[in-house]
Amino acid sequence: MPTTPYPIRPEVLAFDPYSPGLSIDEVRDRFGLSTVIKMASNENPLGTSPFVSREITHRAAFAFRYAQSDNPRLVAALAEHHGIPAANIIPGNGSDEVIDLLIRVCPTPGTHNIVACKPSFSMYRLQSRLCGVEFRAVPLKPDFSFDWKGLRAAVDDKTALVFITTPDNPSGWCPPVADVELFAASLPENCLLVVDEAYMDFCRDEGACSLLPRFSAFPNLVILRTFSKSYGMAGIRLGYGIMPQPLADAMRSVRMPFSVNILAESAGIAALQDTAFYDLTLRTVREGRDFLAEKLAALGCRVYPSEANFIMFQPPGSCGRDAAGIFEYLLSRGLIIRPLKSYELPGHLRVSIGTEDENKRFLSLLQEALA
Ligand code: PMP
Repeated sequence: MPTTPYPIRPEVLAFDPYSPGLSIDEVRDRFGLSTVIKMASNENPLGTSPFVSREITHRAAFAFRYAQSDNPRLVAALAEHHGIPAANIIPGNGSDEVIDLLIRVCPTPGTHNIVACKPSFSMYRLQSRLCGVEFRAVPLKPDFSFDWKGLRAAVDDKTALVFITTPDNPSGWCPPVADVELFAASLPENCLLVVDEAYMDFCRDEGACSLLPRFSAFPNLVILRTFSKSYGMAGIRLGYGIMPQPLADAMRSVRMPFSVNILAESAGIAALQDTAFYDLTLRTVREGRDFLAEKLAALGCRVYPSEANFIMFQPPGSCGRDAAGIFEYLLSRGLIIRPLKSYELPGHLRVSIGTEDENKRFLSLLQEALA
């Protein structure tokens, strides 16, 4: 650990930073390629909605203005969209910011703990560590479903937050909503259940999988959603949490006042109105997912059932190239997918659903890699 004459908290010095996917520019430069396809970060295969692009262009002239504190226009639009009171909604600079806020606002370091699955989206663990809050990781079952009993057993009277992701990242597995409800009801009232629904809209039957329509039935439930995936706005950074009002009030009182900037705010409102783009995104992802799952299986890969906009798979054991070798091969040919070493799954790979052409290009390069 480096020593400095000035203080840097031990949690920071020991920090194991978030491991983002490679960017298109990095791969282009590294391999001297003119075109690179990215199917690594679960972004929208259709790009940005034209409606949102126009709105951002229009609002660019107002870049000199601060956004209105607490983003009331955006919050009102979200409230109407979900039929949830505005007082329960907290927007953030990506849902990452809402996760960070929850971990900074709810548990007291040294007293409380946080429970999540292992592996799960790394932000839960990273921000817990950064805040010096005990993080309890409960292994998933071998088929990547949640170990509800194990999760419940890890919760004690000092558990402030339990995070689950439905559909899950990186597996794409989605539990029946009845199981999530049973688990929510089993938790003590002083423990918040955070259901991260970043990928929920890609489910075959969102109504049967999401806890959002039942939000008001649970006094200790937080639901996270993002504009990064189905709305194609990962770069503009916008997400939100739906939570009990006393918690939302506490979050509003400490959150950075302008973390959701005026472009993100207007883009979010426009995105909610562009139902044609949203519907086409869902159709493209669901069709691409079925297509890729079938073709990956035909290539001998073990394919994990996914309700998200990505698929986790294992290359066939007999192909002579391991997951890392396949990832590197695809990279050298200008196609980025996600190796899952940072999730402690070195034998698995995750591919985001692309356009029809991207999906076909991925499959043909994978076939070369396996040959
Ligand atoms: N939750 C999950 C499960 C994710 O996979 C991601 C994005 N990788 C996020 C939250 C964060 O999304 P954003 O900050 O872009 O809203």
